[in-house]
Amino acid sequence: MEFETLTKCPFCSAKEIVLLFKAKDLLTQKPGEFFLSQCQKCTLVFQNPRVKEKDIGFYYENINYFQEPKQAFLKKEKQSFRKNTLSIFKDFLKKQALINHFAYGGKNAFWLISLSFKKALLAKSYPCFVKNGKLLEIGCSNGAFLEELKNLGWQVKGVEMSRESSQYAKEKRGLDVQNKRIEECDFRENEFDVIVMNMVLEHLYSPFDALQKIAQWLKPKGQLIFSLPYFKGFEFQFFKEFTYGLQLPTHQTFFSQPILKICLQKLGFNKIKFYHQAFDRDIVVSSQNKYQATSFWFYRFLGYNRIVRLFFIKPLVFLLALIGKTSRLTLRAKKRATSQKICV
Ligand SMILES: [Zn+2]
Repeated sequence: MEFETLTKCPFCSAKEIVLLFKAKDLLTQKPGEFFLSQCQKCTLVFQNPRVKEKDIGFYYENINYFQEPKQAFLKKEKQSFRKNTLSIFKDFLKKQALINHFAYGGKNAFWLISLSFKKALLAKSYPCFVKNGKLLEIGCSNGAFLEELKNLGWQVKGVEMSRESSQYAKEKRGLDVQNKRIEECDFRENEFDVIVMNMVLEHLYSPFDALQKIAQWLKPKGQLIFSLPYFKGFEFQFFKEFTYGLQLPTHQTFFSQPILKICLQKLGFNKIKFYHQAFDRDIVVSSQNKYQATSFWFYRFLGYNRIVRLFFIKPLVFLLALIGKTSRLTLRAKKRATSQKICV
């Protein structure tokens, strides 16, 4: 396994780069020590020195990104009557939120009550409806979200680099999914009304080039929606090298809001907005990581107790999301109506 050292920042080209901390591969426990650095000028955080791209495949082996959806269905069947009733009510509110606040129908009497779901759905990457709209999901995994979007009326395409996941999406769900890396994709200019890309950008070796490509595939007024780990969030600041979202060495870059904003404005986007996700697993798994390393009772309490998770961690992440402090971020932007010269 070989490392390479970047001598300048991938975003602003400054040469002042400092090491923040070293970390291990806590996701698959493979050997090695990895390095997280930060540009002193623009504050971009990135892996440096980093594992060379030709060697990174090894670190993706045995990562269980693909989960057989059948298991989830079986679990649902076993749920109690109370839980089923609750999920029916939640599904109803979600549907009403999409109808009333995302243009999937006309406004109705449930406008106010479904308002509570609006922010959660904005953070969960649901696009606003476009009639006969074409949608691309980059990194669509086994196609669960893509299938849901298809059922909501979108003409969908997907791209997925895992052979197993893309095969499932094609064969079991009948979706138009290509088993490719984003760098190999060749979509037409102005082809899509919406591009969704969840938890992908941080994995790429040239994320700014990828964003430039994606911007070209979107139509004017098209919606770009993507999520990513957020280094300035509470979990990263509290758990540091033990943070679940760190995932070195497969995560290459951690973006700040100002950097994403500058980059997307240059690429011809406006209405750039950020939404924080409430994801309790970030605190739970980070605590487990820290407990494995320190054996300190407090992290066992946070990481392995279902009551604590339900009554403390879940409300905490909900509050943190509300004030914009969690470590998972969703960005939503709109391409300008008139196409401008693209420069990075
Ligand atoms: Zn920089």
